[in-house]
Amino acid sequence: MKFLRLQRCLTAFFICISLSCFICGGCTNKATLPHSSSSIENSSFSTDLPSSFSSSNGNAPLEEPIVQESANDSEYSVAQDSSQSEDSAEETIDPTVWNVSDVDISAVDCNKKLIAFTFDDAPTRATESLFAVFAAFNEQNPDTPATATLFLNGYLFDKETPHLLHAAKTLGFELGNHTQSHFDLTTLTKDELKTEIDATDALLKFADGKERHLLRPPYGKFNENVKNVAQTPIIHWSIDTLDWAGTSADDIYETVFSNRSPGAIVLMHDGYPATIDALKRLLPDLKADGYQVVSVSQMAKAHGCILRNGSVYIRARK
Ligand SMILES: [Zn+2]
Repeated sequence: MKFLRLQRCLTAFFICISLSCFICGGCTNKATLPHSSSSIENSSFSTDLPSSFSSSNGNAPLEEPIVQESANDSEYSVAQDSSQSEDSAEETIDPTVWNVSDVDISAVDCNKKLIAFTFDDAPTRATESLFAVFAAFNEQNPDTPATATLFLNGYLFDKETPHLLHAAKTLGFELGNHTQSHFDLTTLTKDELKTEIDATDALLKFADGKERHLLRPPYGKFNENVKNVAQTPIIHWSIDTLDWAGTSADDIYETVFSNRSPGAIVLMHDGYPATIDALKRLLPDLKADGYQVVSVSQMAKAHGCILRNGSVYIRARK
């Protein structure tokens, strides 16, 4: 009997892993419960991807490869359950965990399904247009404002960037680190990796005062070195719009809307008119379907998920 029970337990465990069904805590926007619950889904992917890009092309669009999720290449794990020590979690900061205590989720509606939008390769000359879409939506929908996470490259910063980052802050956008030079991080030494991450963190600190920022490796490429050097969670995605590849606004819209699910992380890019056009329809249509568009850290906190530094995440759901 013991063997049968063990076998059933293991079977259920592996089914759970194959279906990606880790459960986070309930939605909470109470500031007193920053780490109220327990688990998060994370995954790492194959890194044998093409690396065609130029890191010195100013504001020109950068090419992102497709990253295919593969069961063989994925490692899923569940973060340690902290629900047993909820009280002490409020008093001590675990250095291995992404600290969301200062993430504002007062405008997140827990009755809504949450989906996180992310924009890579920022800033560009089109960043203001991107912000304008969110600002217009939020003006019409003050009860469920939309935000996102903007992943920035240090080499793209110029004299206009401080103004842009101020606008990002006003909109409630989260600033994330897309590295200094947009190199394939799997080709770098640990020292080079640290320099790539630290340089952009230092630039972003001027805007938000934070020492560390969520990391989105260029091309979605990472390895053990990247995970070991990263002192923050590595944010992958569950929905890839392929907007960098000349995808039409209709197709970007369809990819996001037809694959929407609570806890999903959507990959888009700054600087593409088709992305802007798709957003103009996605924000109201997702709201009409019961969704609120939020940043990655807002979604993790509202869902009671723990993000561990150096771990890779494709979604954060209840
Ligand atoms: Zn990129």
